[in-house]
Amino acid sequence: MTVNRKFAELLNAVKACRVCEENLPFGARPVVQLDPRARILIAGQAPGRRVHESGVPFDDPSGDRLREWLGVSRETFYDATQIAIMPMGFCYPGTGKSGDLAPRPECAKTWREDLLAHLPNIQMTLVIGQYAHKWHLPQVKKNLTETVRAFEDFAPSVFPMPHPSPRNNLWLKKNPWFATSLLPALRQAVSKAISPTV
Ligand code: SF4
Repeated sequence: MTVNRKFAELLNAVKACRVCEENLPFGARPVVQLDPRARILIAGQAPGRRVHESGVPFDDPSGDRLREWLGVSRETFYDATQIAIMPMGFCYPGTGKSGDLAPRPECAKTWREDLLAHLPNIQMTLVIGQYAHKWHLPQVKKNLTETVRAFEDFAPSVFPMPHPSPRNNLWLKKNPWFATSLLPALRQAVSKAISPTV
């Protein structure tokens, strides 16, 4: 069996997954964008309500901001051969008092290592939010802000990021170094990962 055939079977299994459905208030609807040719990995948190309904990852205000941070068009962003989108939880976990609930822990345990093994061409990974930080970074600082502030410890192959949600507008205002220092380095790394000859 070829690698790509195995990948196609794995992706079908992910799309049919119901492992933690009893804990998902709106049911299972895994939302990922994956292709073994992808060069950039976006490791996010979990789909929100709007993405659960559309089935399109980051098709919301968070996605608009994320595309601006990356400096890429919608067309590039949704080109699976360039960008893989694999949150820590593939299904919408529901919303609590202070925003969306944490990604279901069963998801990373069930799928993450197998899927990562099928993405051999990843040049850089955006690691978004505390759950992805804990999984993807060798070590985190005392809080998310300090981990993101230390981005040069990981760049250019990995960028620890806050969530691009409008809920983080205050965080962005309080941390202007994110726009002036991290984003230019991020856009440069994205440009190289997408066009390796540039
Ligand atoms: S969140 Fe992950 S483990 Fe749970 S049903 Fe969805 S795909 Fe399966």
